[in-house]
Amino acid sequence: MKKLALHWQILIGMVAGVLAGYILSEFAWGKDFVLAWIKPWGTIFINLLKLIAIPLIVASLIKGVSDLDDIRQLSRLGTRTLGLYILTTLLAVVIGLVIVNIINPGSFIKESTRTELMNSFGANADQNVSKAGESQGRGPLSALVDIVPDNIIGAASSNGNMLQVIFFVVFFGIGLILIQPEKSDPVKRFFDGVNEVVLKMIDLIMLAAPFGVFSLLAALVVESPSPDVFQALGAYALTVVLGLGLLVFGFYPTLVRIFAGISYGDFFRGIAPAQLLAFSTSSSAATLPVTMERVEEHMGVEKEVASFVCPVGATINMDGTSLYQAVAAVFISQAFGDDVTLGEQLTIVLTATLASIGSAAVPGAGILMLVIVLESIGVNPAGIALIFAIDRPLDMCRTVVNITSDATVAILVGKSLGKLNPPKPKNWDDHLHE
Ligand code: ASP
Repeated sequence: MKKLALHWQILIGMVAGVLAGYILSEFAWGKDFVLAWIKPWGTIFINLLKLIAIPLIVASLIKGVSDLDDIRQLSRLGTRTLGLYILTTLLAVVIGLVIVNIINPGSFIKESTRTELMNSFGANADQNVSKAGESQGRGPLSALVDIVPDNIIGAASSNGNMLQVIFFVVFFGIGLILIQPEKSDPVKRFFDGVNEVVLKMIDLIMLAAPFGVFSLLAALVVESPSPDVFQALGAYALTVVLGLGLLVFGFYPTLVRIFAGISYGDFFRGIAPAQLLAFSTSSSAATLPVTMERVEEHMGVEKEVASFVCPVGATINMDGTSLYQAVAAVFISQAFGDDVTLGEQLTIVLTATLASIGSAAVPGAGILMLVIVLESIGVNPAGIALIFAIDRPLDMCRTVVNITSDATVAILVGKSLGKLNPPKPKNWDDHLHE
């Protein structure tokens, strides 16, 4: 019997999870049941994905970097990747600003709704705002200092920093390129083998994906706020979703179609499982192993490109987050009755780009960094209270954009370096179930 493609299986898991969440929340015991017996399976699933991320980055990036012929190729890969990341992020902010200026969602918010939302945010306000403030007020080179770890085990630990791991691994790879082949070959072969094992482990984890997303979404539904909030903030939420939709369904597929000759269908068939997972987990970091696997095994991007572009992108390239921050900043300002001047919009372009680069690849990071954008245009950061209740669904959507952008840039860089093979055949997913 022919198996259903992975993205359909995940989609069915998602729909079933949402339905189960709604049905169970009708019962008095339903919420507790979901939190005690269903949610933990989702947590296990996310843990497995995060668990595999560091071994995957290490094995595949060491192999990837050392496969590059020389250091010049590495620097070409680095500059093209960073250039495209900054370009796509800037464009996303501009798109966000254009549509928020057209739709004007702030004008829909009533004075009474504003007071109500600000009050309901209440106790958490200071805590949330101060958490974001922590990342401010440091020296201009602090971002650079943060990239260089003083301890690789610490960098790879759960509260470590992915860029630090990438720094160490690229450095290690450069060392490997520079030594004698008879010394470097066994090391390369070892990491190549580890990489194969890790990819197989990802296949195995993905067999559980439909159940994982079922649990995550069922838990999300029983924990989500009342639908009234959505009504009050409908225009704002629609503006964000419209902007994100333009990127995912228009901008990225068009780019890969024009520059890499990959059709709309092939692009989505290749990347859909990662997108659905990004939606369910709200975390580019948790989705990273699958993004990498899809880009490499299904979109045809060679390992040396995918293994560098994807992890760096998961950390610094967040087009969805930057677009959302631009829309949210203007919306909050409008809701407070302030017009955003052209100069302030230009400030938003700069700060939203930087704030999205600085956002961690975990749920809810984008709204914390929004504080920086708000302060840069002189809006009271407590204004995030207005949008806090509706942030999770928008976080899910912007994470899809974040990983789709990473995949797009991986394809474009791969193409420009002559390291892009034709996409895998349609029934490629079947190998998962052999
Ligand atoms: N959740 C997003 C991500 O992991 C970051 C954000 O909150 O915008 O990509």
